[in-house]
Amino acid sequence: MSERWRSGLVLLISTVVLAAMVFVGPGDELAAFRRVFGIGQDPLGDPADVPPGGTYAFLQTQRGDADEPVAWSPCREIRYQVNPDGAPGSANDAEELVADAVADVSQITGLRFDYLGRTDRRPSWKADLVPMGRKEPVLIAWADEDEVEELEGNVAGVGGAVAQSSGADGWFRYVTGQVTLDSEVYDDLDDERGGEEQMRAILLHELGHLVGLDHVDSPAELMYADNVGQPDFATGDRNGLVALGRGRC
Ligand SMILES: [Zn+2]
Repeated sequence: MSERWRSGLVLLISTVVLAAMVFVGPGDELAAFRRVFGIGQDPLGDPADVPPGGTYAFLQTQRGDADEPVAWSPCREIRYQVNPDGAPGSANDAEELVADAVADVSQITGLRFDYLGRTDRRPSWKADLVPMGRKEPVLIAWADEDEVEELEGNVAGVGGAVAQSSGADGWFRYVTGQVTLDSEVYDDLDDERGGEEQMRAILLHELGHLVGLDHVDSPAELMYADNVGQPDFATGDRNGLVALGRGRC
């Protein structure tokens, strides 16, 4: 695997698994839902000012409006947990890597994240096991391809989110999601010069999926499907992230 990186061959960063469900409830339940989840409040943060340009794409758009992305509510914190089992280095190292990358995504999108701490939860990308509607915290974890088959081949990570509609406005928002990183790829990178930057880039790419970015055809963007050495979000990625930070509450 390390030879592949050094020789400059591309490494597929991720695949994306998405699920969607519709929540339709009577008016009273909906009002309670709105109270509990703070729909109608003000955004917790502001997206960054970024120069225009580049290219980006959304994983999902609202029904009947291809310009409006499905996004997380900017009025609620995105709660997440980390399972550092399988990450290179110490659990603290893993938490630090995640915290730094999450802070970058938060700064650009204006979305606020709330770290709930470590967990023993294991990732799964099986549709029937994705915690649809249960609103479990986002799980950021490491696994090998024996446990998570979506990591088979040259896949370094998987990221995605689950969208749910509140019913009244028919508007879809992400309510939970996952990022799963390939522990073998990260082990190899841990031994390489410049490996830390690659670990960070893979995580940023998957967090891009988590907040709603899809792949683009331009290798200048971090959301290109293959890892071609782009170390950070580029101009188009950043414009997409800003748009995803302006979702409906
Ligand atoms: Zn990807």
